[in-house]
Amino acid sequence: MSKILIFVIFLTAFAACKEKPRQEILTEKEQEVDKGLDNVHQKKREAKKNFRTFENLADTTFVRLADFSDGFAFDMRYATDNNFLKEKVYDCAECYTRVKTVKALLAANEEFEKNGVKIKFYDCYRPNSVQYKMWEIVPNPQYVANPVKGSIHNKGGAVDITLVTLEGKELDMGTDFDFFGKRAYHDNFDLPQEILDNRKLLKETMEKHGFWSMRTEWWHYNLQGAHKDPIANFKWECE
Ligand SMILES: [Zn+2]
Repeated sequence: MSKILIFVIFLTAFAACKEKPRQEILTEKEQEVDKGLDNVHQKKREAKKNFRTFENLADTTFVRLADFSDGFAFDMRYATDNNFLKEKVYDCAECYTRVKTVKALLAANEEFEKNGVKIKFYDCYRPNSVQYKMWEIVPNPQYVANPVKGSIHNKGGAVDITLVTLEGKELDMGTDFDFFGKRAYHDNFDLPQEILDNRKLLKETMEKHGFWSMRTEWWHYNLQGAHKDPIANFKWECE
């Protein structure tokens, strides 16, 4: 073997050795996010052809979020009795909202995915008749919006959400959904750093994509301008 060939073999082997540590620089968490993202992208590619598109849909049309993406998680609490009303007020669990809200949620979720998390929904559009039902159970404007005025949930522009990992594990936000007290306030900074960081990620990303928050509920987000939309009262189909 010529000296040059030996030198080339040596160089190739050396380069191969040098390649390896780059992989190892990734922390375990980063590797998990990478793996999760690979799965997400794979799923997106496979499922894309089955999803609805926004073609011919007005921004204010009501649609079912799951028809546009399978990148979200759901725990629709009002379709169970695991909520502050202690009563099931939806016949079945569905997340409907207006097209413009769906568009903003898809964009926000794409950014969350880059951070290894995704949105999990507790509530989306809420028929006005359900608002009346809630008001009957808890007639207190501090906890339930007056159905005559209507909540932005009734207008298809509000969502109640948290963040979960790509595998579905909930991030610690300090309180459960619909915890009515100071611990749920955005301006309560007397909380462990991890909780503050999680809330910050949620709030900053949602604000970047056109939502605004309420001071007293870390889970509630309104799409900008949605308060001008009319109150709706259609009910989704349950099988
Ligand atoms: Zn809400």
